[in-house]
Amino acid sequence: MSNLIEQALRNATDTRACVIEDGAIKNIVQIFRECFPNAARAILIADPRTWNAAGEMVAQVLEANGIGFSKHIVEEGGKIFHAEYCYVEEVRSAIKDTLSTNEGIVPIAIGSGVINDVTKLASGDLHLPYMVVATAASVDGYSSFGASITSPEGAKQTYSCPAPRAIIADLTVIKNAPREMTAWGYGDLLSKIPAGADWILASELGVGEWHDRAWHTVQDGLAEALGNPEGVRDGDSKAFGKFVEGLMLGGFAMQDMQSSRPASGAEHMFSHILDMNHHTYKGELVSHGAQVGVATYFMSKFYEKILSFDYTKLDVEACVKAWPEWEEEEKLCRDIFKSTLFPELGVEQTKPKFHTKEALREHLTLAKNIWPELKEKLKKQLLPSEEIKRRLEIVGGAVFPEDIGTTAREMADNTMTAVHMRNRYNALDFTYRTQQMKAFAQSIY
Ligand SMILES: [Zn+2]
Repeated sequence: MSNLIEQALRNATDTRACVIEDGAIKNIVQIFRECFPNAARAILIADPRTWNAAGEMVAQVLEANGIGFSKHIVEEGGKIFHAEYCYVEEVRSAIKDTLSTNEGIVPIAIGSGVINDVTKLASGDLHLPYMVVATAASVDGYSSFGASITSPEGAKQTYSCPAPRAIIADLTVIKNAPREMTAWGYGDLLSKIPAGADWILASELGVGEWHDRAWHTVQDGLAEALGNPEGVRDGDSKAFGKFVEGLMLGGFAMQDMQSSRPASGAEHMFSHILDMNHHTYKGELVSHGAQVGVATYFMSKFYEKILSFDYTKLDVEACVKAWPEWEEEEKLCRDIFKSTLFPELGVEQTKPKFHTKEALREHLTLAKNIWPELKEKLKKQLLPSEEIKRRLEIVGGAVFPEDIGTTAREMADNTMTAVHMRNRYNALDFTYRTQQMKAFAQSIY
């Protein structure tokens, strides 16, 4: 096991074991006994595809070692299987049925983002620790707390629930997942570059919480995890292992900080907006990783605009003069979100980070004064946008808005929503305050 994973496990609140290697499934019995010493049985939760990919194998190993289990296959409703709340109810009642006859049951999710999130929430509701056997490197959410589920009202949201107690990532299985799923995961991991810049920016400007350990968990292995996109695409053992480890570390950082800050910056807001608007492309919802990959390229270009501006010459008084009073801003927040399922979201999230004119003067003067050092820190964190594009193209990921059925215009317009939807300062907040956000966003491509 790598040092980074070992360290992450020491600081994890819920996860006790994480095995990432070729043939990891053969360790499932040992992990099961170590992590769930009082459990006698398991319930395997999969969909038809993930059952074929890994479920059969898990079943064989458990059977050969005398561990009893039942299985529950979540059938696909439509063409794509989504994390709808009805599946959480289905899985929860399947687990409950087994509970009534057997004490000490362990739910084992066999799948990727959707099966994991559904099982995570269902198990959390029942206060049962669970295990996941990953079948694709498509998301960083395996090791995170919380589950991203579409509520009965139709809104995708993060429900609070513990991370898995044990994670098994069998690289032989994961490498055989559909190639586009690997590209999604690569896009999600690549986002930790601009997301890290957002975190630095916020912290240096004294807004938002810093968590040193979570920072190191997600960032220390990142260059290596992302450094060989050809190897990731081709399933090279070392490159692929580091990449999967990178995804897990992103989740562990979130678990440690109990916040998605370490793994999510402005780029994730664009994905949340598309989800909120039920955006589809060619009749299908677009995966999280594809949306995030496109937004990562966008934000990398956006950062290049920031870095090319000399903020030591910023006209602070002009920015203060153009800045609204809260009443005006509150009205704007309500306008932006009025036709969504979350009409109050903008007001709730924007108010805590809103600056009065006096506070803004102080805030921007600080930015002006520390700009030379801040610029160096941001430059060190970021990769050139051309490199971001090159890597996304190598893994076969989406790069441009058109690749996911949106447009440059829509991306630019969405910055206004993005900057009002989370109380988490990022590059958009900074340029919103310097009156540059709109102009930068409109000249990205
Ligand atoms: Zn993500």
